[in-house]
Amino acid sequence: MKVIIIGAGIGGLTTALALQQRGITYEIYDAAQGNQPVGAGIMLGANAMRVYDRLGIAGELKKKAVLADNIYIRNCRGEILQEINNAEVERKYGTGTYGLHRATLQGVLLEHCAQPVQYNKHCASINEDSRGITVHFLDGSSAQGTLVIGADGIRSAVREQYVTKARYRYSGQTCWRAIIPVDLPAAEAREASEIWSKKGDGLRAMFTQVGPQQVYFWATKAMPAGTVMSPEKALPYIREQLADYPGYMQTMLQHLRPEHLIQNDLSDLEPLNIWHRGRAVLLGDAAHATTPNVGQGAGLAIEDAWVLAQCLAAKENYKKAFETYQQRRMGRAKKIVQLSWQIAKLTNWKGRFLTGLRDGLMKSMPKRMAEKQLAFFYGVNLDE
Ligand SMILES: Cc1cc2nc3c(=O)[nH]c(=O)nc-3n(C[C@H](O)[C@H](O)[C@H](O)COP(=O)(O)OP(=O)(O)OC[C@H]3O[C@@H](n4cnc5c(N)ncnc54)[C@H](O)[C@@H]3O)c2cc1C
Repeated sequence: MKVIIIGAGIGGLTTALALQQRGITYEIYDAAQGNQPVGAGIMLGANAMRVYDRLGIAGELKKKAVLADNIYIRNCRGEILQEINNAEVERKYGTGTYGLHRATLQGVLLEHCAQPVQYNKHCASINEDSRGITVHFLDGSSAQGTLVIGADGIRSAVREQYVTKARYRYSGQTCWRAIIPVDLPAAEAREASEIWSKKGDGLRAMFTQVGPQQVYFWATKAMPAGTVMSPEKALPYIREQLADYPGYMQTMLQHLRPEHLIQNDLSDLEPLNIWHRGRAVLLGDAAHATTPNVGQGAGLAIEDAWVLAQCLAAKENYKKAFETYQQRRMGRAKKIVQLSWQIAKLTNWKGRFLTGLRDGLMKSMPKRMAEKQLAFFYGVNLDE
């Protein structure tokens, strides 16, 4: 069996490691021109770290990542709306939630891939017959294999060209992310607080240390879809929007430079009911892109990679493997997409009355329910 992986993001590279561990031959292709240090920071939940533990790279990642004592959602008055205590998470699930630079994660994954990523390979179309499946690239070349895994992100060509059509949903918010090359004072570095504005209207922001001289900053704001601001315009806009934010945020805003800023609209996919067709199967954002409000998009992709490799190794034919994979993964992915979508809607409420109600709703979640939610995120069964 030879598996063609399309997409060398977090999902595709983790799939490569999972297949490799089970002795399954693969080739991996990506449309990008090469490995560029893309993106800003990422929080890897305990569920994702548990998969990396099984793939033998958790120790290396932990050395390069940062484990905050607590992860909070707060309002501008400093009140805690939700809280994750990493020591408790570690005790229950064997590992905490780590923050790191995306490029660091990408680098570790690439280092452990036995096969090189073949870059400049933009999947354009796919066809299959009884002997195998062929991916045709924009440069006129092609790759043949037994199966194709579409790990090519929210705008997946594998999905749109071959498996099924998806509908994109704009959450109503745009997001700016940055890595600011400074170190936080020790007290600030111990916690990661996402702060919700009292104005609502999608306004939230966070900063957290993710490595030496690397503070991950992000801010969201409700905007019409496709509103693009130049970084030079965005910086004073962000500073003005966050002017009433308390504590160390103002210092971080002074360190922020236009050249640090990356802007993306936050969208997801309306949940799909089918993730495979013939010899092709979808994984990660290609199958179930979610808004980032519960920090689980990459976590889902990483779990998918583990489960799909497990199914391919265990089942006697790929059809059964794809069916079992979809059955094990779809319900969980749908729940996370839905929950994250609801939080996006909640944070879009505006005005003092509604933001007060919003804060009340968040704070009133009973401890037992909050624990149940964490158990759902972090305690995923990887061995069914
Ligand atoms: C602002 C923001 C913050 C986030 N924060 C978190 C977080 O803290 N924790 C978390 O778990 N998740 C987070 N996520 C979600 C997470 O980033 C994604 O779920 C994850 O990156 C998906 O990985 P993927 O490999 O499926 O897709 P991608 O990372 O999108 O990778 C797809 C790859 O496919 C390639 N590709 C695309 N089209 C083609 C083609 N036609 N042919 C060949 N190659 C192609 C691309 O070049 C890319 O390398 C966040 C998302 C956003 C937007």
